[in-house]
Amino acid sequence: METVQSRGLVLYNRPYREKDRLVKIFTEKAGKRMFFVRNVEKSQRLAQIQPLVVGDYIFKLRQEGLGYIDEVSVETAYPKLQGDIYSLAYASYVLALADASIQDGQADPALFQFVTKTLDLMEAGLDYEVLTLIFEMQILDRFGTRLVLSECCFCHRSGLPFDYSFVYDGVLCPDHYEQDVHRAHFKPNCLFLLERFQAVSLEELESIRLSKETKADLRQTLDTFYQEYVDIHLKAKKFLDSLDEWGSLLKEKK
Ligand SMILES: [Zn+2]
Repeated sequence: METVQSRGLVLYNRPYREKDRLVKIFTEKAGKRMFFVRNVEKSQRLAQIQPLVVGDYIFKLRQEGLGYIDEVSVETAYPKLQGDIYSLAYASYVLALADASIQDGQADPALFQFVTKTLDLMEAGLDYEVLTLIFEMQILDRFGTRLVLSECCFCHRSGLPFDYSFVYDGVLCPDHYEQDVHRAHFKPNCLFLLERFQAVSLEELESIRLSKETKADLRQTLDTFYQEYVDIHLKAKKFLDSLDEWGSLLKEKK
């Protein structure tokens, strides 16, 4: 077994036999790994293996099979984010997406940085809906997809009222609409903003202010892209969608 010291982010844990747990941790140096924690109720470990805990870990890793946690020094568990059911639902979706986007055991420090930075900004009170949209947009390449939103697939002109073609995986200008009779017509500012989100750095985010309506349009557009290109069904996303419906019902009643 190899001893590895790395930062890590707990994705989830689940009971295993009577007193033990399996914990999935996204480690910065060794990718996603499953760890075995024995007799968890009697140890200090329980609080350290909850989803969203970020810490410094010393692990014992094997080539295959379960690893073991030697030491943990918890940096944060994002208390503010966890204290609100909405931000928690969005953060849980970000975790589930990160989990689904790469293979176990495949190191991806850039993704690790991106996920923890996204969570840091949610914790700092920035708009978690916008952060999630940006996260989804920028993680698409891990699922093997890159959308061409900035220029027409045929003539490469930009700044025109584009439609989207799922045949060409990109936008079409009015001169080339006829190339795809089944092209999708999204609201123009949606494609424009999603294109910006592909490249925006999270630091720039503080200057982005979007109306509720625009965010709802973006959510719908991005959901369409995800259905078409990613086609995964995450429980965390279902929960988030139901929470949105349920939340808006409550707000209407007020
Ligand atoms: Zn064109």
